[in-house]
Parts: sequence; structure tokens; C-alpha cells
Amino acid sequence: MKVFKFGGASIKDAEGFRNVLSILKKFSGQEIVLVVSALGKTTNALEEVVHSYFERNGNANQLLNEVREKHFNLLSKLIPDSSHKVYEELNNTFIEVDWILEDEPSESFDYIYDQIVSIGEMVSTKMLAAFLNESGMKTKWRDVRDFIRTDNTYREGKVDWEITEKKIQAQLVPASKNGLVLTQGFIGGTSENFSTTLGREGSDYTAAVIAYCAGAESVTIWKDVPGVLNADPRYFSDAKKIDHLSFKETIEMTFYGATVIHPKTIKPLQNKNIPLHVKSFLNAEASGTVIDSDMNDDARTPVLVLKPEQILISVSPKDFSFMAEEQLAKIFGMMAKHRVKFNMMQNAAISFSFCADDAKERVNPFLEELSNEYKVLLNEGLELLTIRHYDEQTVQTQTQRREILLEQKTRNTIQLVVRRF
Ligand code: ADP
Ligand code: ASP
Ligand code: MG
Repeated sequence: MKVFKFGGASIKDAEGFRNVLSILKKFSGQEIVLVVSALGKTTNALEEVVHSYFERNGNANQLLNEVREKHFNLLSKLIPDSSHKVYEELNNTFIEVDWILEDEPSESFDYIYDQIVSIGEMVSTKMLAAFLNESGMKTKWRDVRDFIRTDNTYREGKVDWEITEKKIQAQLVPASKNGLVLTQGFIGGTSENFSTTLGREGSDYTAAVIAYCAGAESVTIWKDVPGVLNADPRYFSDAKKIDHLSFKETIEMTFYGATVIHPKTIKPLQNKNIPLHVKSFLNAEASGTVIDSDMNDDARTPVLVLKPEQILISVSPKDFSFMAEEQLAKIFGMMAKHRVKFNMMQNAAISFSFCADDAKERVNPFLEELSNEYKVLLNEGLELLTIRHYDEQTVQTQTQRREILLEQKTRNTIQLVVRRF
């Protein structure tokens, strides 16, 4: 069995759906499990609905209606016959959210977030399954919540590997034996049948979970880039494709923030030695990037990774005592509690500095608790630039228009917390 994953960019419009069909036709007759994300930027739009609902600003219904309209508009281009049962299925899924919005928010933000945001994948996959079937490509739609079991850490569901593997072996593997199976990325289900999400951009990870549990032969993630490049083309104009990478090098790249692959994707594939192909959905014939256990020709040219929206937090005790282990343990405890993701840290005699993702809804409550006990200094609007296999010239070019606030070097990697000017 092969696992294919198509992200939001590949199905953002009718042309995208037709393109996915044409790619799948090239593989007809093969055992394929298809993992699919929400259309385009739907997840962001649904996040807005949730925020608006919790802010009680009266816009939630309107925002949801916009999402609904977009889906039905696109559906009418794919399947003009509005008596097709997919219309009712979509309608029912959106009505579930209408019901949530009718009442005042009484459950936790993260729980409601998952119940609302997860419908993006439910509706996109219903649309794609209907479209493929109407186009003559026999496709079985499966609800991923029936076989990817997570705990109830909403917005960051942790996979229960044992149950998930059993369910995938019992349900998904047999289904894939005759024809295409289509399911949702990004979401899972709890033992009580609530929806969870696996973290933003988590559909790549879903593909890896399924591949691992099914013992798949390979995973292909179809992207809007020719493969993994040595830098994000949005930030660096002369990025070049890397033909081959090892699991190890890819884990490093994604850990530092190369968003082309979700960081949790690689480990399960590495454990079972399942190769990962990153290919362009705009040029399906091109070779893309192959990622496997072979470390022989890992890139020796510099690889650039830029993480925007960083905050540098410097903490010192109010009484000028030293920053000792006890204090650090306390600070790390607070970070874990508020799920603040830190990316780099440096300790000095009376201060401890670290750079973290500036996700306000987590960072603000964290900072509030932190300032009760410590003196806190902030630098906002920063970037974290990581250069793997760095050389002097690359570092010089990249720091020309950047003020460096914090720097860390190992033999292979340099990391710089910078402000652009
Ligand atoms: P998906 O459609 O699966 O959600 P993403 O948009 O998450 O795809 O990932 C593809 C994007 O990742 C590219 O458009 C590119 O801007 C970005 N990206 C970041 N780092 C890299 C890299 N090193 N190589 C290629 N693309 C990268
Ligand atoms: N739709 C989800 C997101 O945008 C998951 C994914 O696309 O991977 O975060
Ligand atoms: Mg994505």
C-alpha cells in the first residue's frame, strides 16, 4: 500500500480537484490510501469562527456562513446536480457547527476549537470522494476518527499507537485492497468519540501515522513546490531543490522550522524505514525529493530555515540572586503548563533568555504568571534564522540586514535570533 497526502493548496479550487484526479489516474489499480486536508485556507477561517464565538462579538455565524458558501460554490462547479447526496452531507456537517454556536460557550476553548475546526477536513474529503466517484474513480470515504485514536489533549491530540495500529490493520488495510481509500488528515478521535486535532499542519503527520500502522511501502506528500528545497522559497529567492535527504537531516530541518513537512512526520517513517517522497502536484512526473535512511549524500550546501513571529524573553530574579537550577525548573514548568514552545535558550549569571513562538494565546498567560515571580524583559517581532552546514559567506550574506540579538553555534548549525531592518 502507498499513502498519498494532498494538502490544502492542492484542492483550493475546482482546477485543483481535477488535477488531483489526473494524478490519481496515473496510479490506477494500485493500493492507495489518500489523506486529504481542508480546502485552501479553510482551517484559518474556521479558527476565526472559534475566536469570534469565544469573544462573543456577534460575527461567528457570519464567518461560518462564508466558509459554508465557499464550499457549496466549489461543490456546484464539481457536481452541478444539487440533488446529489453530498450536498446533504455537507449541509449536515455545517449544521453541527450551527448548533454549537447557538449556545453560549461553556466548554474549554481547545475542546470547542477541535469540534469546529475539524469539520474542514470532513467536508473537503466528502467533496473529493463524491467528485472522484462521479468521475469514474471508485473511492471509499473513511472517517479517520474511527481509527486514529488520541487522548483528549485537544488541539494537540497524542496518538494511542496500540489502538490505532489495531484499528488500521482491521479496517483500513482490508479496505485498501480493492480500490482507493480516502480519509482526513489532521484529525483523530477520543475514546468518547470526540474529535481532536493533531496540531496545525498535521496532515503530513496523519499520513505517517497511517503508513506506520499499515506497514505501507511509501508515503508521497504532494506539495506546491518541486520538493524539499534548501530554503523556503517564500523568504529566499534562489532556493534549490534537494534530490535526496536522510531521515536524520530532515528531522533536523523540520525541527528548526522548515514548514514543508510537519516535524512529527519523519520519526514514525524512520522507525519502519518507509521512504517519504515530496513531489509537486503541479508537475507530477518530476522526481521531487526522496527521504530515506541513506545518509551518504546528505546536503553539504547550506540549508536555511527561517522561523518568523518569535519573541525573546529575558528573565531575572527580582532579588538579584543567581539563576540556578531551581529557578530554571520553575520556569520550564510554567512553559510546559502553558504549552509555550521555546526554540533556543541561553543562561547567564542573573538572567535566562529564551526565544519562543509568539503565539499570543499561550504566551500572554505564561508571561503573566512569570512576571509574578521574576523581572521579565521582552523583545518582539523577531525571527529565528537557522543555517545548517553554514559557511562564513552565507552567514555574512544573511546577517547583512539583520540585527543579531542572540547567537548559538555548533559544528553543523548556527542559530541567530534576529531583527530585520
Ligand atoms: P500543504 O499544502 O501540504 O499544507 P504547505 O503549504 O504546508 O503544504 O507546505 C508547502 C510550503 O512549504 C511551500 O509552499 C513553501 O513555502 C514552504 N517551505 C518551507 N520550507 C521549505 C523548504 N525547505 N522547501 C520547500 N518548501 C518549503
Ligand atoms: N488543515 C490543517 C491546517 O491547515 C491541517 C493541514 O493542512 O495539514 O492546519
Ligand atoms: Mg499545510
